[in-house]
Amino acid sequence: MPEGPEIRRARDELAGVLKGQRVNDVFFAFDALQTYQEKLTQQHIVSVESRGKAMLIHFDNAYTIYSHNQLYGRWYIAPDKKTPDITRQLRLAIYVDNAAAFLYSASDIRVLQTHELSVYPYLAKLGLELLSPDTNESMVFDHLMAHRRSRRCLMTLLQDQSVLSGMGNYLCCEVLHAAGLHPETRPCDLDDEQLTQLAHHCLYLTIQSYETGGVTNSLTRAEEMKEQGVEFDNYRFQVYRREGQVCYRCGGVVVKGKFCGRMGYCCLSCQV
Ligand SMILES: [Zn+2]
Repeated sequence: MPEGPEIRRARDELAGVLKGQRVNDVFFAFDALQTYQEKLTQQHIVSVESRGKAMLIHFDNAYTIYSHNQLYGRWYIAPDKKTPDITRQLRLAIYVDNAAAFLYSASDIRVLQTHELSVYPYLAKLGLELLSPDTNESMVFDHLMAHRRSRRCLMTLLQDQSVLSGMGNYLCCEVLHAAGLHPETRPCDLDDEQLTQLAHHCLYLTIQSYETGGVTNSLTRAEEMKEQGVEFDNYRFQVYRREGQVCYRCGGVVVKGKFCGRMGYCCLSCQV
């Protein structure tokens, strides 16, 4: 599933072609939404926003298209306005003068009015947005601190969108490795220094992943591996999908397993 950094990058691409544009045509695949096609056509898009894993396309007549990509949803930008040659199902298309934006496979698409956004269940429960420019390390620390007494393990707590918004499975595994913490560690097991380090890695690895297109490995190491001809999927992570391989930090072996009910990756030698 795409995580916060991937959704934010899709947001940037969408905003690049849609923001400020008048919409020439809109297509919704779902019958219940087709009534909005006329309401949104000829309106201007004032902004495109991502919150957690949701995309919000705001129109100047106080309507917003909400979409959540879930597992398989994917946006495509087409400068020639032609649908790509793929077998996925087209769910939403937005046509402007110089491009078209297509959303495939997503099943969670709504049209909301501005006043409904703050009470829409997914948006209302979102926790601290890690990729907001207003978010800093001490705010992440405070949000984690609020769960200090929680007996839930970090593997589930960090992926709870009502705590920190935007972190999914790969980021969680990478953050816990960077912080040297076992996935089944609970917040109540951590001292202040460990909690500070965890907050630091939650924030900066999420930002690094956004800025680099998904690299959570050391950037120096990733660059060296890239120069040696290693493929992107094989140099981007520290532990995720690296089971059986050597841990970059301690020389131990990366393992794949179920931690608190969720599949994940870690090094049992240096994550304790
Ligand atoms: Zn290790």
